[in-house]
Amino acid sequence: MLTPYRPEPYVNFVEPEPRQMMIAALKTVRGQLGRTYPLRIGDKQIATDQKIASIMPAASETVVGYVGKATREHAEQALQTAAKTFKTWSRVEPQTRARVLFKAAAIMRRRIYELSAWMCFEESKSWIEAYADTCETIDFLEFYGREMVRLGGPQPVTPYPGEDNEVLYMPLGVGVVIPPWNFPLAICTGMTSAAIVAGNTVVLKPASASPVIAAKMAEVFEEAGLPPGVLNYCPGSGGEIGDFLVEHAQTRFVSFTGSRDVGLGIFARCGKVTPGQVWLKRSVLEMGGKDCILVDETADVEAAAEGIVAAAFGFQGQKCSACSRAILHQDVYDAVLQRVVEHSRKLTVGDTTSEENLYMGAVIDEAAYKKINEYIAIGSKEGRIVLGGGQDARTTVPKGGYFIPPTIVAGVDRNARIAQEEIFGPVLAVIKAKDFDDGLEIANGTQYGLTGALYSRDRFRLERARHEFHVGNLYFNRKCTGALVDVQPFGGFNMSGTDSKAGGRDYLLLFMQAKSIAERL
Ligand code: NAP
Repeated sequence: MLTPYRPEPYVNFVEPEPRQMMIAALKTVRGQLGRTYPLRIGDKQIATDQKIASIMPAASETVVGYVGKATREHAEQALQTAAKTFKTWSRVEPQTRARVLFKAAAIMRRRIYELSAWMCFEESKSWIEAYADTCETIDFLEFYGREMVRLGGPQPVTPYPGEDNEVLYMPLGVGVVIPPWNFPLAICTGMTSAAIVAGNTVVLKPASASPVIAAKMAEVFEEAGLPPGVLNYCPGSGGEIGDFLVEHAQTRFVSFTGSRDVGLGIFARCGKVTPGQVWLKRSVLEMGGKDCILVDETADVEAAAEGIVAAAFGFQGQKCSACSRAILHQDVYDAVLQRVVEHSRKLTVGDTTSEENLYMGAVIDEAAYKKINEYIAIGSKEGRIVLGGGQDARTTVPKGGYFIPPTIVAGVDRNARIAQEEIFGPVLAVIKAKDFDDGLEIANGTQYGLTGALYSRDRFRLERARHEFHVGNLYFNRKCTGALVDVQPFGGFNMSGTDSKAGGRDYLLLFMQAKSIAERL
């Protein structure tokens, strides 16, 4: 019997048992570095001449693994295979499709430390960030499986005399799934599993910075009994095969999570009808953010400072939900800033595959390292660096990887570049607000609208914020990161995407179309 969905619990790595389990898993994974993972198209595993090397961010000379690099011919083969398999998979009972997800969840639960350890290597996630990523992956599988059972059952319609009426949710067809690297197991699995449990078949083009953990996911689905051809694992460069997959006439929908600019390109290309295409392509686009925490003069200063630090620097600030702007009421500006700096100075930074349970690892790759440092240089002109940024000897970081210390820039103007553009790294812009109204205006004053938090003890301000703080995920008196599946369905407004609410009860409908059937009695 299906039990109600519950989020997977976290462990505490201060306790000896989880700590030992993690150290053992890191050792196991270290022994498996450098292997090669082929493409998976239908029942074939295809070795390619060209490969993508997945580099360890914390030790840039270490290769986590090599994956096959698909050409356009491979991409074509994957689409044709997915189209052929759709004919059978779309007719498999929803309940049976859901069981594949439940089985995959059970396998992942058994391998939770090992899968998390892969993310410490491939992403430089801290132990708890990696573990939370795997928990979220399991949550998506458990939740979407249950949702499909619900949506696969009878749907309510108003009875009409002399007729038997019903509404069926039908799958769409072949989907191209393009995830980002930053939640390389959770988002990749969430996007993929939602599409396939709804009865679609998928060509998955994982992010080039995290293709090994995506290969592990494909292995798990195979072990869980997913028929060949339902999920086609097709790594390759976004520029080389991404456009091709998106524009192809066989593609029925594109599910994308990533940056604003790439998302806008996909949005435009999905709007163009390719010769031979007989449908309007659907696009589900989840994009970037410039999220903030607003603190008013009634707030608990200490709680606000702790929330800002966790949301700004957890996983090196590389979350779409990360707090990259702290907007502080002038009366508490100095007090909150001081506590934020004090807390941030104590954060540990290093290679998270060591035996030490560190708070922060390296940023994902050389391009990110350069881009973030360029923003820090811009920030040094747009405000005053009060921590990090290479200026502060107390926050020096290790060598050999793409390490950037937690960096705080105070006295930033609301329209400064570092207050408007997504940096996607451990850089916090601190902005002063005259009063609550001014703070709300600053909070809403970007092109994005993903997450935000308000720390306040004023009931009527909290109520106003419910309506006027224009973000898809709003939090009161807590940090703006860490959304849980079906507890806080996730997705943003404006240039943050189509507000598709991953991990919510509307999500699977994005991968289906409703058919009304009436029979005269
Ligand atoms: P990205 O550079 O936009 O890449 C995302 C994916 O798109 C990757 O798989 C990438 O492949 C692919 N891609 C690149 N160019 C393409 C093209 N022309 N056609 C088709 N696909 C293409 O983003 P990222 O650096 O991986 O991820 C970070 C971004 O994701 C941030 O902006 C973050 O805010 C956002 N994000 C949003 C959410 C959300 O829920 N709203 C969640 C997580 C992350 P390659 O890797 O091969 O280039």
